[in-house]
Amino acid sequence: MAATETITEGDGIKTITTHYVDGAFVESHGRETMDIISPTSGELIGRVTLGDQEDTRRAIAAAKRAFVTFGRTTKEERASYLRQLHEAVSARVDDLTAAMVQEYGGVVQFAKPIVQSGANAFLASEKALQEIPWTQRWGKTTVTLEPVGVAGLITAWNANALFICLKLASAVGAGCTVVIKPSELSSLQTQVMLECLNAAKLPKGVCNVVTGRGDVVGAELVRNPDVAKISFTGSVAVGQGIMRDGAATMKRVTLELGGKSPTILLDDAALDQAIPAALIMAFLNSGQACAAGTRLLVPKSQLEGVKRGIRTAMRSFTVGDPADSKTAIGPMVSQKQYEHVQSYIRKGIEEGAEVLVGGEGHPEGFQAGYFLKPTVFVNVRNDMTIAQEEIFGPVLCVITYASEDEAIRIANDSKYGLHAAVLGTDLERARRVASQIRAGRVVINSMTDDPQAPWGGFKYSGIGREYGRYGIEAFVETRAILE
Ligand code: NAD
Repeated sequence: MAATETITEGDGIKTITTHYVDGAFVESHGRETMDIISPTSGELIGRVTLGDQEDTRRAIAAAKRAFVTFGRTTKEERASYLRQLHEAVSARVDDLTAAMVQEYGGVVQFAKPIVQSGANAFLASEKALQEIPWTQRWGKTTVTLEPVGVAGLITAWNANALFICLKLASAVGAGCTVVIKPSELSSLQTQVMLECLNAAKLPKGVCNVVTGRGDVVGAELVRNPDVAKISFTGSVAVGQGIMRDGAATMKRVTLELGGKSPTILLDDAALDQAIPAALIMAFLNSGQACAAGTRLLVPKSQLEGVKRGIRTAMRSFTVGDPADSKTAIGPMVSQKQYEHVQSYIRKGIEEGAEVLVGGEGHPEGFQAGYFLKPTVFVNVRNDMTIAQEEIFGPVLCVITYASEDEAIRIANDSKYGLHAAVLGTDLERARRVASQIRAGRVVINSMTDDPQAPWGGFKYSGIGREYGRYGIEAFVETRAILE
């Protein structure tokens, strides 16, 4: 049944009952509902109806039908669809930001640029599309790049709108049709995104979205033989399950997983700049970021100066209302995540690390909602649990090193390899150190972005890459024709 409204509101509660299938908003076949709780107040703000296996199968069938034509589009046609998507998402940046602030407590100073970069991902993909050699010939051989087929795009909640845009930009650039399974914790953002997709006026069935549980909608995408590829952003455990279960239907997979990223402070770094930069990377998205630089490696001889610098710089990392543009750290996404982070702070203390700033419990004046104290530990050894496991909250471990070689060894002594940072004045030396870090992306001196640079992890941080040309190439097969 075609629905006319995507979000209805009564008694201050938003109600969402629709998915987006075959170019139309459709009422959910699944009947299970889930409450949307504000992380800022702990109060009920909405309710979403979750899709089921039948909703997912209808979406896959629509994507399969659409692929017959969409898989044969020219790159010029796909470039124009990417521009339409860019325009549609750009027009709703403020609404998407507001939804992120409201439903997961994303601070506006992080949420807005994240949404904006999601909108820009479509233009980056358009640029990459023009540069990729879609057809190459030598002798009597012709090699073409072909879209892999229907793709299932499964996203995490912590920047759901960005992940949808990134994956969609690459899939559409390649000529794939998609079924998106956004995080069920991101229903408000997703609903705005559905309206964007509808406004972008892509051919029917190219983009389909079913909100639902991972073990229902996600699992059907992974199992279904009509889905050729899964592009996933989320936890290692779920990523491993996707590889295992996807093997039965020979799924191609891109997995963007967790991290425990090191920031190496070299002994020639200017501390007044390097320490705030290190803290920004550590507390990105209130620490709920895969790339967060949660291990700060400092020269042993400079520890006291670094501790003083951290205490001073932490005064500007204010906890508060995520909608306030001055707030640096908002609440955790859920009570479960709040307790998860608290358990790691306790574990750090039990294992002998020293709390320099923060500690257990709510900050003063924030008893409601899921606010916690941003915490910095010193006297941390790299083999402690808090230095090895992804906490996904604002908890920074300061670890000392005696030599550059030891810093590199500690940085690489992790099962993860997603992101890293090197802070130092001598750029040649910083580059030398960066080139020895086993991570998919290493930034020098500050967090910076390039929409054409690949994103993805070594080791347990994942398989494959996103962004620009690398992102599109993850959605194609090569075909050689020999005469
Ligand atoms: P999660 O793994 O719990 O969930 C991610 C998505 O997978 C959700 O949409 C969920 O519904 C779905 N899912 C759950 N079970 C599934 C199943 N059996 N089959 C298919 N899909 C299933 O992760 P999360 O809590 O949403 O996100 C946090 C994690 O994501 C962290 O580990 C973080 O580091 C990681 N992450 C990685 C990146 C990156 O780019 N590398 C970016 C953001 C987040």
